[in-house]
Amino acid sequence: MSADAQYSIINVKLTIEGCFCQEGKQGLRVNRLEYQKNEQAAAVLASHYKRQPVAYVRSFGCQQSVNDGEKLKGVLLDVGFSITEEPGKADLILFNTCAVREHAEQRVYGNLGALKGLKQQKPGLLIGICGCMAEEKCTVEKLRASYPYVDLVLGTNVADILPDILADKLTSRKKALRLPPVREEIVEYVPQTRESSFKAFLPIMHGCDNACSYCIVPLVRGSERSRASKDIKREFEELVQQGYKEITLVGQNVNSYGKGLEEEIDFSDLLSLLCETPGEYQVRFMTSHPKDATRKMVDTIAKNEHLCKHLHLPVQSGSNDILARMNRKYTAEDYLALIRYAKEVCPEMTFSSDIMVGFPGESEEDFEHTLALVREVRFTQLFTFIYSKRPGTEAAELADDTPHKTKSDRIAKLLALQEEVVGEMSQNWIGNTYPALVEGPGREEGHLVGRLDNNMLVEFEADPSLMGSFLPLHIEEVKGAVLIGSVAK
Ligand code: SAH
Ligand code: SF4
Repeated sequence: MSADAQYSIINVKLTIEGCFCQEGKQGLRVNRLEYQKNEQAAAVLASHYKRQPVAYVRSFGCQQSVNDGEKLKGVLLDVGFSITEEPGKADLILFNTCAVREHAEQRVYGNLGALKGLKQQKPGLLIGICGCMAEEKCTVEKLRASYPYVDLVLGTNVADILPDILADKLTSRKKALRLPPVREEIVEYVPQTRESSFKAFLPIMHGCDNACSYCIVPLVRGSERSRASKDIKREFEELVQQGYKEITLVGQNVNSYGKGLEEEIDFSDLLSLLCETPGEYQVRFMTSHPKDATRKMVDTIAKNEHLCKHLHLPVQSGSNDILARMNRKYTAEDYLALIRYAKEVCPEMTFSSDIMVGFPGESEEDFEHTLALVREVRFTQLFTFIYSKRPGTEAAELADDTPHKTKSDRIAKLLALQEEVVGEMSQNWIGNTYPALVEGPGREEGHLVGRLDNNMLVEFEADPSLMGSFLPLHIEEVKGAVLIGSVAK
């Protein structure tokens, strides 16, 4: 039974011809659906509002969440809404949330608290929570107890059924908030309103089959499902034709792409297939998992001009003991062996990583191993996190025993080391010219910011019309994590 059985799925068509089904980890059949505008729900919305209704959608969290938000907006536009950036003007407010750390959830609650007055002024306003937090039992309980003005709790992967849910809400008696089941269908052709006109996120898979002991993602996004390569290729080609210059392939573990599909394809094959598309663009991807990242993938990056020579490979810790207890299924030595191989076959390749400090039981010695790994790899960027206990995960059963002061001291040490490493590396960049994609305005008036292949940002003086184009930038100096440069003649 599909998880959305509580809603009629008249707006989606189950494709029989050319349809693929896959056997997921638990023998689950994953259906591929195709979005179709829900005319019936659109008519209900039109007759309820009697004017064009207005929606405000705000996404929190990762690239997947941003893309989910783009789909929510796309579908709302499709059924007659307009989109506003001002919550005060909205008939519908949707917070598309992140649950990966407690802090992310607190931000959402803070923003929800600020809506109480608005709801009192506008009783017809609908307020909904969707995304990862909405798939947690504790969220529903907390909303019922402390945020009774929230009307809807929708889960992840709901853009296509949103019109139906809204129509149902507006025409039926008030129902108690309840925990939505995780929907595992793959829905193609969902309209999207993209945040940028030159950078796009393109999901290649959904969910996650790993069981990293600290992580809530598999619980809220369900098991891993890869999209068929023909669907990804079609969307990719459309983006290139529309002029997108950077396409980031998104998945929780892109290196296991292809598992469970009827076709024989792995992640490296997918990269090669997509990069056959002619045009001026570059491709990034995230997230790579060290246990599944292969030398074949490194070779593919090395030889393909469309692929940025940069690998984001979250290591989490340099201690084998901690890695084992995180259930990451690789050792620091495995990780370093892949990095050494990558440096050998592609000397210009750079690396970034996620590191977590204060995982239960992390000793000073464990942390020293992390520092040693950071010294050896020489990342261009490090995303550092303090361990956050997530309800329902395996690690939540362990005592969160590292004092907060120790955790913040470790983060500070890591960042100081990282700054030192980047400071040293950037000396080699000064005086050279690199291609960059111009991303937006700089900190100073008349300045723009470009991103190099290696993910470093460069600030330079130029005309705003150059936004979204590739430019050669000459690197002149370093200021903290930002390089200062000029457009090369
Ligand atoms: N699927 C990706 C990342 C998902 S979450 C991967 O496997 O790498 C992004 C990052 O958030 C993780 O790499 C991890 O460093 C951090 N993170 C995840 N759960 C966390 C938790 N409970 N506490 C602190 N950081 C966490
Ligand atoms: Fe979470 Fe691990 Fe899956 Fe990443 S790979 S989403 S950290 S369980």
